[in-house]
Amino acid sequence: MTLEKIPLLDLKPEIDEIRDDIMAAVTRVIDSTAFIMGPDVKAFEEQCAAYLGVKHAVGVNSGTDALVLGIHAMGIRPGDEVITTPFTFFATGECISHMRATPIFVDIDPNTFNLDVDQVEAKITPRTKAIVPVHLYGHAVDMDPLMALAKKHNLLVLEDVAQAWGSEYKGTKVGTIGDAGAYSFFPSKNLGAFGDGGLFVTNNDELADTVRMLRVHGARKKYHNETVGANSRLDTLQAAILRAKLPHIDRWNEGRRAAAARYNEYFSAVPGVITPSEADYTKHVYHQYTIRIEGGKRDAVQAFLNERNIGSFVYYPVPLDKLPVYKNLPPTELPVSDLCTSQALSLPIWPSIASDVQKRVVDSVAEALK
Ligand SMILES: *Cc1c(COP(=O)(O)O)cnc(C)c1O
Repeated sequence: MTLEKIPLLDLKPEIDEIRDDIMAAVTRVIDSTAFIMGPDVKAFEEQCAAYLGVKHAVGVNSGTDALVLGIHAMGIRPGDEVITTPFTFFATGECISHMRATPIFVDIDPNTFNLDVDQVEAKITPRTKAIVPVHLYGHAVDMDPLMALAKKHNLLVLEDVAQAWGSEYKGTKVGTIGDAGAYSFFPSKNLGAFGDGGLFVTNNDELADTVRMLRVHGARKKYHNETVGANSRLDTLQAAILRAKLPHIDRWNEGRRAAAARYNEYFSAVPGVITPSEADYTKHVYHQYTIRIEGGKRDAVQAFLNERNIGSFVYYPVPLDKLPVYKNLPPTELPVSDLCTSQALSLPIWPSIASDVQKRVVDSVAEALK
């Protein structure tokens, strides 16, 4: 008996739901022929700023570029140190290394998978210039104590909010609490485009102005380049598509939250599985629903799910401090990050995932652990 495949992510339902709006948006851009920095880019930036409650939103080519241009604009330079988490996607470290600064990895909290704020201060040196917290899987970092530390030591904070569109910290949208935030519209993110896209957000006029300059080859005035920037504009077609999706994102995130609550309930009867926690300071948006599997059984469970035609993924199989690119950095002891790397497994989730599909996932995990 071969059971129907359960993918890790199914984008089709939300596309089908608003297909007419998307087609109208695409047609509007094509007919306008304003493919580069067309009116949809500005309109989308304004809608994002209003949604997030932030002064400036600057569309860029990817979440990675939002981070890279942000770190550049913040004046991070060779020899500087930037504190971040090892338990994230490479782009978080890459933006620091792009400016030839040094990432300093701090261990994580096993309950939230995020930077353990209590361990940050011990890693601050006279060379430390910034902190890049990551709101991983859609769960906010504990920002109040982190911002207090940043203030005390005069450090800049760039939030990596690539996985956290709509997520909140004490009622405020993440990405708007630090000096700046970097969002990604990679297709699998909660608010995803049909290609690459990203957004830099800040309440700081100077940072916004600098990133706007950097995204067009370092020129405030065309052909009067002031510095080496990048070609990193948000594509007009992507902006138009994202405008069609934005009005639905809160409902879709609620769908993810409801799905996570169902998973938590089904897993309560399964020993050996630690379900994701949601601290009282955050509104989690479950970009990923990630469990921890104890007893060294994670890989066996994943192989079993694969046999059962159920998608799952390890985000991320190698923590940043153990990547080949960082082999020349001084060795670090990050036991919690290592433990979570060996235990984490992300399971199928999307806004309209059906409860019987989730039941099959949970039953299969339980059977694998028997
Ligand atoms: C996806 C992601 C990025 C990079 O975003 P892109 O749009 O793919 O460049 C950065 N950080 C984290 C944590 C991500 O998940």
